[in-house]
Amino acid sequence: SQKQLAVYGKGGIGKSTTASNMAAALGEMGKKVMLIGCDPKSDSSITLLGGRRIPTIMDTVRERKNKIDGIKEEDVVFEGFGGVRCTEVGGPEPGIGCAGRGIIVAVDVLMKNSTFMKEADVLIFDVPGDIVCGGFAVPITKKMVSEAYIITSGEYMPLYAANNICRGLNTLRTPLGGIICNEREAADEKEIVGRFADALGVPLLSYIPRSRIVQQCEREGKTVIEASPDSGTASIYRGLAAKVLMEKDNKVPEALEDAYLRELTLL
Ligand code: ADP
Ligand code: SF4
Ligand code: MG
Repeated sequence: SQKQLAVYGKGGIGKSTTASNMAAALGEMGKKVMLIGCDPKSDSSITLLGGRRIPTIMDTVRERKNKIDGIKEEDVVFEGFGGVRCTEVGGPEPGIGCAGRGIIVAVDVLMKNSTFMKEADVLIFDVPGDIVCGGFAVPITKKMVSEAYIITSGEYMPLYAANNICRGLNTLRTPLGGIICNEREAADEKEIVGRFADALGVPLLSYIPRSRIVQQCEREGKTVIEASPDSGTASIYRGLAAKVLMEKDNKVPEALEDAYLRELTLL
């Protein structure tokens, strides 16, 4: 059966970097993977495509005066490293329109026109920031996500956002596959994020060190898996990809009380 996962976390925490490296690692293993960038920044798949930006679904829909019938899969889905199929929802016109509404339209376009989406072994939704509103929860409410993953560092704000995401997942009755720590070199980071995962009763799946390699590869327009395949960082992303594939006993998370979360971050 198809794995359908969504990656959530505070803006700038490393969702797109982690999602694209995970996608590359899964592609390398021979899995059919589709990465669906839902962030209006439209940069989820850029490192899978040699730094190239692709036309977004929203731009394509607008060009066609909102008619979605004539859109073909190859207009909006592009093959990247490891055979990963990449697509970007895109954003509303700045100042007007609703990003969440865009995700609804984009999901519609893909469901109607993408055969790869139906055949893929793994779908990865890279979803913006927090679950700030119903719009950004669309992949979940459309029943296209079977498990969520949350990326955080050991700093208070990303943890606070992560806890809020748990609140949203709880309301939507969506299981959490685990926490991924992307290091920001906060004091006692591993312990703090480990305690957070423990308190939620979910696994801490991966601890990704902050590394210059990630940024160097990004500058080349590549994932670490492609540009630095023998690095320790690449093997960490591969390990994460393997864990994501495993059957886990995923639970719908129960968010922590704010005061308790504060306490966890004070070591
Ligand atoms: P998000 O998608 O959550 O907004 P990004 O994946 O775009 O965040 O990451 C933001 C920046 O942080 C990028 O420039 C990326 O290169 C950098 N980054 C992410 N993870 C790491 C890491 N493990 N080590 C070093 N830099 C990282
Ligand atoms: Fe749309 Fe959500 Fe943005 Fe409101 S906050 S405009 S619902 S995406
Ligand atoms: Mg991103």
